[in-house]
Amino acid sequence: ADNAMEVIFDAKSENESFARVTAAAFCTRLDPTVEEIADIKTAVSEAVTNSIVHGYEGIEGKITLKVSLVGQEVRIEVHDDGIGIENVEQAMEPLYTTKPEQERSGMGFSFMEAFMDELKVYSGKNSGTTVIMKK
Ligand code: ATP
Ligand code: MG
Repeated sequence: ADNAMEVIFDAKSENESFARVTAAAFCTRLDPTVEEIADIKTAVSEAVTNSIVHGYEGIEGKITLKVSLVGQEVRIEVHDDGIGIENVEQAMEPLYTTKPEQERSGMGFSFMEAFMDELKVYSGKNSGTTVIMKK
């Protein structure tokens, strides 16, 4: 990477905006459009929120956010050591949610896919979750 950063923070909902703004700030050196910045913020927000509400289910834990820049490409990684996802393919389907009672709409992964150019999810039961996105 031409430039990279990494930050580890507590899985608390008040850190969702910190993560979103931090990722966006690191990308500003690429001179992105307002729309590109908005897309990156939305994608980071969805991934971090998932780590907080699903990965750790409100229990203490750490989230790692990595952003790297290669040429004009932005690569973002969001990692948690939470409960993980047994069936990643199913979880990524639009409208699929395991928390309908919390008014989750099951659209987080769909938004990440829509707002970024590439989305990869690595997870397994009890092995944490890593989301890698490129734009
Ligand atoms: P929304 O994002 O619309 O509020 P949602 O979070 O349920 O709803 P997605 O973000 O698409 O929808 O995630 C789909 C499902 O994948 C979740 O309901 C959850 O079961 C699982 N999931 C997603 N991220 C994680 C994670 N980091 N750890 C464990 N499970 C996850
Ligand atoms: Mg979600």
